[in-house]
Amino acid sequence: MNFLGEGYNVALIDAYGRKHDYLRISVTDRCNLRCIYCMGADGVKQIPPREILSYEEILQVVKAGAALGIRRIRLTGGEPLVRKDLLYLVREIARVPGIEDLAMTTNGILLPRGAAELKQAGLRRVNISLDSLDAAVYSRITRGGDLEQVLAGIEAALAAGLAPVKINTVLMKGLNHAEVPAFLNLVLEKPVHVRFIEYMPIGDHDRGYGRRYLPLEYIRKTAARLGLELTPAAPPVGAGPAESFTLPGGKGTVGLIHPISAHFCAGCNRLRLTAEGRLKSCLYWQDEHPVRPALGDAGALQALLQEVLRLKPGRHGMSPGAGAGPVRPGAMRTMNKTGG
Ligand code: SAM
Ligand code: SF4
Repeated sequence: MNFLGEGYNVALIDAYGRKHDYLRISVTDRCNLRCIYCMGADGVKQIPPREILSYEEILQVVKAGAALGIRRIRLTGGEPLVRKDLLYLVREIARVPGIEDLAMTTNGILLPRGAAELKQAGLRRVNISLDSLDAAVYSRITRGGDLEQVLAGIEAALAAGLAPVKINTVLMKGLNHAEVPAFLNLVLEKPVHVRFIEYMPIGDHDRGYGRRYLPLEYIRKTAARLGLELTPAAPPVGAGPAESFTLPGGKGTVGLIHPISAHFCAGCNRLRLTAEGRLKSCLYWQDEHPVRPALGDAGALQALLQEVLRLKPGRHGMSPGAGAGPVRPGAMRTMNKTGG
């Protein structure tokens, strides 16, 4: 307890007054899909296994973060479910004092086998990436993924109570924009939270960015055209930067995440840990801070976390007029290496 009172923690507030309580951990850069906006067709140069943080090392960072006020953890990647013995990590993180919410972002392919065990181990909820409800388009976007497996993964997550189940859908002109009505229909029929996400100029595998990007205003217009009223709603647990809406008679909700057309950096509360142990305070900028030199020393890890926040930029540079120079698509890691 400090003089400000129990539970009040000033340790993870950055230079812009943003309180940070959320750590996203990339547990691997490997993946069983090859989404066109994320990885090259042959994958990207993989991080050598010896450079990937061990679970014990990840846990050290989680504990240091929790001591400073981190309350929410998300496991991501790459595809987190391809890393061996992930249940062990889930179980151990769920036990760290102070951690209140443990979630995962996954492509859902391996969920039919693992959802129930993950829930038992302490995972609370999942975000499942699904950019198309058409098998051929899904296969094209993921370079070979099987839509049926993801749909089975969504059902498995719902059955296991990994709720709220959120669906991440990156909107891309000419690829899936014509499916917005189908995704809105999913919200009408199932208790899922479909979050449309603006396509971001991340990594350099994405030669189609310029012609594919579509602002999320398109979702509002499509709903209006269909006569579906988007009513602002209380966000589901862990909604982060998503604006949430209900549809009349819908079982789920619609979320809009628009990092480009209307960025939400002023409310940013997150830090990222890459698979090979680098802390990033912003998805966009190149700045990275290796944790390895501080491993084995809780005090040094805490000091590093605070230093990373001290240097955190005010905003990303992806939006037009961001004041950060031209968009630099090649300036960043690919998303599978950053942990989306
Ligand atoms: N493999 C898991 C998955 O696909 O859910 C977790 C990692 S993936 C990098 C995390 C999220 O980042 C996914 O929802 C994916 O759609 C999103 N993502 C990847 N590249 C993106 C981009 N260029 N723009 C917007 N979202 C992107
Ligand atoms: Fe794999 Fe996820 Fe990247 Fe797709 S978005 S290639 S599923 S890491």
